[in-house]
Amino acid sequence: MKSILIQNIKAIVTLDKEDRVLEGQHLLIEDGRIAYLGTEQRNAETVIDGKGLFAYPGLINTHHHLYQTFTRNLPQVQNMELFPWLKTLYEIWRGLTPEMIYYSSLVGMAELLKYGCTTCFDQHYVFPRARAKHLIDHQFAAATDLGIRFHAARGSMARGRSDGGLPPDDLVQTVDEILADSQRLIEEYHDPKPGAMRQVALAPCSPFSVSGELMRETALLARSKKVRLHTHLAETKDEEEYCLQQFGLRPLAYMDSLGWLGSDVWYAHGIHFDDTELELLAATQTGVAHCPSSNQKLASGVAKIPRMLELDVPLGLAVDGSASNDGSNMLQELRSAYLMHRLHYSSTAPSAYQLLQLATRGGARLLGRDDIGSLEVGKAADLFLINMEKIEYVGAQFDPRAVLSTVGIARPVDYTIVNGRIVVKDGRIEGLIDEDKVAEVANKLVRQLNER
Ligand code: ZN
Repeated sequence: MKSILIQNIKAIVTLDKEDRVLEGQHLLIEDGRIAYLGTEQRNAETVIDGKGLFAYPGLINTHHHLYQTFTRNLPQVQNMELFPWLKTLYEIWRGLTPEMIYYSSLVGMAELLKYGCTTCFDQHYVFPRARAKHLIDHQFAAATDLGIRFHAARGSMARGRSDGGLPPDDLVQTVDEILADSQRLIEEYHDPKPGAMRQVALAPCSPFSVSGELMRETALLARSKKVRLHTHLAETKDEEEYCLQQFGLRPLAYMDSLGWLGSDVWYAHGIHFDDTELELLAATQTGVAHCPSSNQKLASGVAKIPRMLELDVPLGLAVDGSASNDGSNMLQELRSAYLMHRLHYSSTAPSAYQLLQLATRGGARLLGRDDIGSLEVGKAADLFLINMEKIEYVGAQFDPRAVLSTVGIARPVDYTIVNGRIVVKDGRIEGLIDEDKVAEVANKLVRQLNER
């Protein structure tokens, strides 16, 4: 039995139903689960001194495109909004190889782990026609090598330029190819059991890169296999105009017509929903992954988070792809969200702690999991620890529930534990992966991709 005891923790921010913060208590991990929380002395193989440490449940990232880690900070797209930004980047993404998918996934997920994220959801939708096979399998391999909990979405694009879509024709696949690979991935990787390290969702890219037929067929397949559905929606005014022009419907009405509402569906962004649409989301328990950094960078707008919270629309937090962020740092996302909403909404802005709720149990709700997102006995042992006695946190210890959003944590955490295994220690990746070697190989591949 593998066990870890973290003793005398300065503050455990549990994110349980009572929103308790426990002071001076011990947390025992056995076989990947939280086995005990309290003040009784327990024994374990590994003991960590919790003096000065704040403990939080692992953050859950609910929308990402890991391959974009290789196209960050590109000068040619720094001053663009979504549609021109995508059209420019598609030309580079055409050169993606399976090796690049593996390494970009390692890079993005390593950064997520180093900043407290323990569950990564990724939507991979770029399948260059000549090298389209088994790309998501390489992402699962990377997740396993790092020890992160991974939810892969089989993304897709099926509406190329010659059909009135946005992507070039050699980046789209046929509906049959997409559905066959979706089914294969679910059968090979999707684990519905509590404690699962691997799950699969289905996620056609967006209304402007996919046909209505593919959206409808994907929903049918997902429901027959009991997996979840995800896509980009209401991200930009361009998308709204595109839907009105092509389908005569606003984006949400269009998705409703294709069977895409329900508690098994969540949308990335959800910025331009009107009041009636927000009420429909709440009534159907259709969720939204909020991506504040990406929304700011691409000037897409500010999602109506205060109203969504009032209505109880299921909400999670996400970094979005690294080409629009430009990183994979959920702690930074918390602070980015906090400041953006303070500026935009002032007194009705979500509180620092509400944003942490989004990033933890909110994310678990979007992914359909009740075994992660809080620190409680019986839940998966996914957590991170920050030493608050460092000089940069002096004077910042009054409110452990708020500090991640208000003060912000600008450096890697001290420990990240996933499924009862230490995967980050003193801010460095532990285990199979040598992060310096990965960075060296990845940088070579980045040059290869961008010099094409
Ligand atoms: Zn996205």
